[in-house]
Amino acid sequence: MQRASCSIVASASDKLFGTNGVRFVPGVERSLDFVIKLTESIGTYLGEGDVLVGRDGRLSGQAMSLAAVSGLMSSGRNVAEAGVVPTPALQYAVRALGYRGGVMVTASHNPPQYNGIKVVGADGVEIPRLDEQKIEKIFHDGSMNKANWRGVGVSRPEPSAIRLYLQGIMSKVDRKLIAGRKFSMVVDPGNGAQSLAAPFLLESLGCKVITINSILDGSFPARGPEPTPEKLTDLSAAVRAVGADLGVAYDGDGDRSIFCDEMGRVYWGDVSGALLADYLLERTRDATIVTPVSSSQIVELVAARRKAKVVRTRVGSVDVSRTIIERGAFFGFEENGGCIYPAHLTVRDGGMTTALMLECLAARGVPLSRAVSGAFPRFYQAKTKVQVSQEKVRGTMRAVEKQASGRVEKLDGLKIWTDERTWVLVRPSGTEPIIRIFTESDTEEKVNSVLKKMLRMVKAASA
Ligand code: MG
Repeated sequence: MQRASCSIVASASDKLFGTNGVRFVPGVERSLDFVIKLTESIGTYLGEGDVLVGRDGRLSGQAMSLAAVSGLMSSGRNVAEAGVVPTPALQYAVRALGYRGGVMVTASHNPPQYNGIKVVGADGVEIPRLDEQKIEKIFHDGSMNKANWRGVGVSRPEPSAIRLYLQGIMSKVDRKLIAGRKFSMVVDPGNGAQSLAAPFLLESLGCKVITINSILDGSFPARGPEPTPEKLTDLSAAVRAVGADLGVAYDGDGDRSIFCDEMGRVYWGDVSGALLADYLLERTRDATIVTPVSSSQIVELVAARRKAKVVRTRVGSVDVSRTIIERGAFFGFEENGGCIYPAHLTVRDGGMTTALMLECLAARGVPLSRAVSGAFPRFYQAKTKVQVSQEKVRGTMRAVEKQASGRVEKLDGLKIWTDERTWVLVRPSGTEPIIRIFTESDTEEKVNSVLKKMLRMVKAASA
């Protein structure tokens, strides 16, 4: 890891946790000393019991992970090292093997220079927001345990995380039904951590598997770690070239999955999420679905048809997971491809979602394109982002609110409904200095004009 010449600063007022764990550019924004101090604080918060540590395939992952192991041992915890694993595999193994908690070294879908720390509770789920504040307090107070030579922890390898994870997924779907369809499938892990798990899962489910971008590489040379539809042209082309039934792509740490139909059309995660919700609702009564403000209104249409309830949350998988637990919901999803199936584990899981999608298509007996077109009307979406420096974010949001016309929801950012079927969401990112703009409508013209108008407004307000 290279040490940059700029200063490494962490002021006492710093909020460490963002939307999804603690994220930074190692060696530039934060040092390995920071990782040790943070994981000493995490070890102190977790208390007695062993901690499982894993990492995704990022270039800084090994150094970060060794620092995290050291910090945890320094706080007196014994540590087991799972090595490179998808985040959901680490989370599943924490619960299945009875660890006190887990630490995942990952920056998920962020660009290759980023890395981060995610804290997992004994239930396998990211810890609640209030507990993140407890860790921040220990960190800033300097009240972390620092064990002496007698009390310092030890570490050992934990090689079984991926095997357990795959067994867990397979126990939650109808394997015979899926195998009977003999799906042919193109898998694109984007050089991320699902390279080590998803192809084996799909083979075990009886699929013919074709892989692309499936060599683990922390520089993410093929298409980057974020599986947005416009980046998945290779997946789309491969599905059409080999005549596959389906394609799937994952993000860098393998908790998000984006699907491509047999004609090469790639769907956002709220379409696949709503399709899975619709399928699972056939056998679930009085159900609640949880999804953030940013996902499509099709979920309300599905829920109304199946007499289910929709609970909207702030953006961030932690909010979705924790709301699912509070409400006893049966399913949750995000528009970025993070689906949560609590019957397996209440976390986003690309592998579990893929297995459910195969079961859904096997049960319905139609290709993905027809499953989607038969399930809900077409809505159009568009997204963009604007670079806005941290100090200008608040003023920009205030200016947008002032100029907004229509009903405004303020659960997270500003969701402005310009008519009954058209909304635009303007929201500062929790992890990067940008403002995101999402919009959805029942016509393409409205989506484009609303997006253009809002983009102009945000740019003018942040200039
Ligand atoms: Mg991720």
